[in-house]
Amino acid sequence: MNDHSFFTQAVHAGEDREAHFGALSVPIYPASVFAFTDADEGIAIHNYKKDGYFYGRLGNPTVAALERTMSELERGENALAFASGMAAISATAFTLISSGDHIVAPESMYSTTTNFLKHLGTQFGVETTFVDAADAEAYTAAIRPNTKLFWIETPSNPLVRITDIAEVAAAGKKAGILSVVDNTFATPFNQRPIELGADLVVHSATKYLGGHSDLTAGILVGSRDLIDKVRHGPAKLYGGNIAPQVAWLVLRGIKTLALRMERHNANAFAFANTMISHPRVRAVHYPGLETHPNHEIAKRQMRGFGGMVGVDVGTADAAKSLVNDLKICTFATSLGGVETLVQPVALMTHATLTPEERAGAGVSDGLLRISVGVEHIDDICQDIYDALP
Ligand SMILES: *Cc1c(COP(=O)(O)O)cnc(C)c1O
Repeated sequence: MNDHSFFTQAVHAGEDREAHFGALSVPIYPASVFAFTDADEGIAIHNYKKDGYFYGRLGNPTVAALERTMSELERGENALAFASGMAAISATAFTLISSGDHIVAPESMYSTTTNFLKHLGTQFGVETTFVDAADAEAYTAAIRPNTKLFWIETPSNPLVRITDIAEVAAAGKKAGILSVVDNTFATPFNQRPIELGADLVVHSATKYLGGHSDLTAGILVGSRDLIDKVRHGPAKLYGGNIAPQVAWLVLRGIKTLALRMERHNANAFAFANTMISHPRVRAVHYPGLETHPNHEIAKRQMRGFGGMVGVDVGTADAAKSLVNDLKICTFATSLGGVETLVQPVALMTHATLTPEERAGAGVSDGLLRISVGVEHIDDICQDIYDALP
């Protein structure tokens, strides 16, 4: 399947029609308990000596279909689905690190991941060094004898900065440090970190994979060994398993992932290029712009530049006024759905950070994070133009 176009893979990845009477849509198995047929088989399945299902938290055929699909699309060997992106992120960290270990992570990324890493510091003595992730050498410079994990998020939230995945992963490999990439913003349509050398890829499937603002889910993809460690360790111990009904929704979303991403890429590219010349816009952040400081790396490692654009309208008041005057675009948090969503970053997702941390992350008061949807580009631009104060 890997030699077909991603457009074909997104429709067919993970298919196992024989197992489901030829059904084109994987059935939803709501069962939380599965009966064993005889003693030997039951014992083998329960003790993971034989494939099979026995308890909802530990595996389900609908969930397994999603895991197969994402494993294929991200070029991993195996995958594990979760109830949310944060469940995937926390289970991954709790598998790879112990008290006293050290992590290197971006100073600008999804704010709950930042807060989670800080929580590891205060609660478990796991220190994180936050670096300028657009500078691959900053990761190497931050290595300590106890460094276990390079955390990468690219394009990053909210400034869509780009980390050179191949370079950071190679530096990690040399030092015996695992690299995890949060691929939520790019999706495997635009970028496949495992092909670039990363050990694990994590997603908030709540965003582009689901794609319709109607579910919360997370996915982790990687080698068979690493995924088994997470599955039989923290995923099992802390829970956080996805519901089969939700796994089915993610699977349905993925069938149109390529179509949606193609449109998100095209719309965001056009939107960024239009906004950049507007007199009341102070700055536009988009890796597809030649003026973006990491444009060259983005061109190298991404197929398209994604649907996320940062627009700085100067002041917090201007940002508030704009979201109040939107007619088609929607003032809401989150991203990756078919609708264009607009959010003032400093006042919301990054409000929990101190002003110094916000400045360090490059988040100015007037910054809007725009998840450019799949509506007609002229309507999106006109709506933002009309709302600009
Ligand atoms: C939303 C998001 C998360 C967290 O995912 P949830 O599904 O909300 O738990 C993690 N990383 C990135 C980049 C995100 O956008």
